[in-house]
Formats: sequence, structure tokens, C-alpha cells
Amino acid sequence: MKDGDGMSTRPRTRVAQLLTRRRRSALVLAAALCGSCNVGMAQPAPSTPAAGDSVTLFQNVRVFDGKNATLSGPSHVLVRGNKIETISAQPIPVDRRADTRIIEGGGRTLMPGLIDNHWHATLVRTTPAQAFGDVAYNSLQAGAEATDTLMRGFTTVRDMGGPTFGLKAAIDEDIVKGPRIYPSGAVITVTSGHGDFRQLTDLPRTIGGMLTRMEQLGGSMVADSPDEVRVRTREQLMQGASQVKLTAGGGVSSPFSPIDVTTFTEAELRAAVEAAENWGTYVATHAFTPAAIRRSIAAGVKCIEHGMLMDEATAQLMAEKDIWLSMQPLPEDLRLGFPVGSVQRAKADEVWPGIARTYELAKKYKIKTAWGTDVLFSRALAQQQGAILASLARWYTPAEALTMATATNAELLALSGKRNPYPGKLGVVEQGALADLLLVDGNPLENLNLVADPGKNFLVIMKDGAIYKNTLPR
Ligand SMILES: [Zn+2]
Repeated sequence: MKDGDGMSTRPRTRVAQLLTRRRRSALVLAAALCGSCNVGMAQPAPSTPAAGDSVTLFQNVRVFDGKNATLSGPSHVLVRGNKIETISAQPIPVDRRADTRIIEGGGRTLMPGLIDNHWHATLVRTTPAQAFGDVAYNSLQAGAEATDTLMRGFTTVRDMGGPTFGLKAAIDEDIVKGPRIYPSGAVITVTSGHGDFRQLTDLPRTIGGMLTRMEQLGGSMVADSPDEVRVRTREQLMQGASQVKLTAGGGVSSPFSPIDVTTFTEAELRAAVEAAENWGTYVATHAFTPAAIRRSIAAGVKCIEHGMLMDEATAQLMAEKDIWLSMQPLPEDLRLGFPVGSVQRAKADEVWPGIARTYELAKKYKIKTAWGTDVLFSRALAQQQGAILASLARWYTPAEALTMATATNAELLALSGKRNPYPGKLGVVEQGALADLLLVDGNPLENLNLVADPGKNFLVIMKDGAIYKNTLPR
């Protein structure tokens, strides 16, 4: 972090937050003492308002608003607190208060912060072996990775599985720097399904019996009946899940799930959908094959993760039913990383050719398509997060790719309804939207590769009105 004072933009807010929290704690204690309620201390903290009423003025910038394929003319953008207050072609007068920041954009591009809609915040930097080990060590690694994620310009991630509730709270409370997190909590799977990382020696499973290590950690939960699915779904919602993730079919990295299998029954999927909808949100399923996708849709699932083995008829069905496709242009290096001759490599060899085919189908049938990376167990690959976005150039124009990673991804986030942990508009630069902004040195609508080198090309990174990076000369 080169910009020392970028880290201290919200002192008054912190005090206000602490006072609010103390007041809340006192109320909870009083309520508990008089026996009037059962408020649990472990309730997820609501997201904290940021940046007080501090003011940042971006002068002389060209705006990519997240939607339009061209940059605006020279503009001025005023951020007050955590929101974009004014966008104007005319200079905006501001009081020169001590906490007013004026950023001279010099004609550079101001755009929305990036959104990765398939991320695993706590499983990026750890290794599979470490993931079951020391919780404190893994949490510190995840915190460091969250900071790196934000410094790559990703101001929001939709977390599709892993024990992220604590990390999210720590970020919202400004204990650690990181992106906004839309958490799913534990992935819910079946015995042998994708996400069941037990060994054969762990069998048999007793329903209602002891939890395994992976379940205790909150990484994934095994459920083998509608009732069990309901319990596990509600547990994630209770902890603050903004959406729920189930694995409806086999996966590449799991030891005992062939890629072709369909796992949950329709009744099991429906139990999760019902619980999530009763809670005001939705279910997303990991599904590659037409059978897994179709069963998910029949059960009321609103978003398909991956979908890379879909056929033409299934693509058509997704479009007709207005189902989201959350896709990842998985890098070739990832496939090559699985050892030749391994089960995982054979599965990867089957899935990878589906990436191009599925993007073609998504375009042909105009399926609502979100973008994400799904990086697991690789810090090196995480550093390619922007490059993976830039690789969409194979199928999309720079404007289409950037719209997908901003305004369109934000539309999928909004599907969390009342369980949206960050109410307000994300993924756009417009008046009233939340102030998650990047100042880019160059025009990414002409050169998408600028996003592949955020260290060099993202000069200012703002999240929720607070500046986390500013390398402009002063
Ligand atoms: Zn994933």
C-alpha cells in the first residue's frame, strides 16, 4: 500500500461505528438481563456505513458507467460519504475542508469497481491440506488475500462456498481491508458429491451423527434428504448467507464425484429453494450437464454455476426461464495443473472444451451471463484475476466484458433481495450509486488488457467512499 493516508480516510466513521456498536451491545445486554428477548451475540453484524460525510471530487475524468460502450466526455464526479452524489460536465464547487479530497483525473477513465461473481475468499491462498488445518492460520491467509483482491480492483465478490462469514464481518468492520463479500457459507452437497472431501475411511455416515472436520469448519455440509437439506440451508441463512449454494452434479476437483452424475433429487433441491425463498433469497447450483441444469431449474434454482457441458436445448431452456448463467473462462494453466493420468485431469479435459461452446450458446440465446473466476488453492492464479477477465476478449468486446464484470454482475448480486448485505446500487457510476470506483490510466474500452495489470494501471481504488489506493503524483 503505497498511499499512506489512503488508509486513514474514515476516522470519524470508526468512532461513530464503535459508539453505535457499544450502544447496541448495551441494549442486547439489557434485553437479555430482563429476559425480554433471546438476541444472540453471534448474529451477523449489519454492514457498516462508511466514510461519514467526507467528500472526494474526481476532476476531469472520462466515465465508463458500467453500461454504455463509450466513455463520457470530460466529467467531474463528486462522492459524499459512501455514495456518488453528482456527475457533471461542469466543474463542481466544493468546500475546501480538511477532509475534502480533490483528485485530478487528467482525462483518465473512472469506472465502477470490478465484481467477481464466483470467488472462494477463504480457499484461494490455502492448500487443500492446510484447509483442514489451523483455523487462525487460514483466516490470516484469507485476510491477506482479501486485501490483495481489493488491491486488484475487485471491490465486491460473490463467495460461492467456504467459511467466509467471519472474514466478511472483519472487512465490514474495517479490521482487515478487503472487498464486499456476498457469502454463501458452506457448500451443501450429498454423500460422494462435489464438495464431499471425505475419504473412504470416513464412511459410513450416520445421519445426525458427528460432523466431519470439513463440516465443522463450515467449508461444506453433506445432506442426504430433503429434511437435512432444509436444516443445512437454514443454518447458512442464519449465519448471514446472501444466497445458498448446492452442488447438483459432479465436479472436477472432488475425489469421488464423476462429472456426469446428477446428485440431489428434485425434492432435495426444492427443499433448499423453498427455505431460501422463504428467507427472501435464492439458490445457485453447481451444474455442468444438461441433466443437472434441468433438474435445478425444475426445482426453482435461479442461477447455474459453470454450466459448461450444456447442450443447445438446455441453453434455450435457460433463456426461456430467465435463469442466470454464472460462467468462468477457466485458464488453460488450471487444466494443465492437474497431473496427466489423474481422475481430475480426465474430468478437466472433458470440461474445458465446453467453455468456448457455452459462451457461444450464451451469446446465441442471450442468456443472462455473469462472470467469475472460481480460483481455488492458488495464490498465483488469483494474481491473474484481472487477466482472466481480460481473457473474455475471445468472445466479447471490451465494453461487453467490462459491463459483465460490473453492472451485469451487480444485477445478479441484487437477486439476494432483502438478504443483500450491501443495499444500494453497485457496478455502475451514476448518481446515488455506492462509491466503488477505479481510476484507470488509459481507456479499458479500447485496451481490455489494462485490467490485467492493476498494480500499474489502477491509480485510485475506492470502496464505499473510502480510498484504499492512490498512486497519483501529488
Ligand atoms: Zn467454485
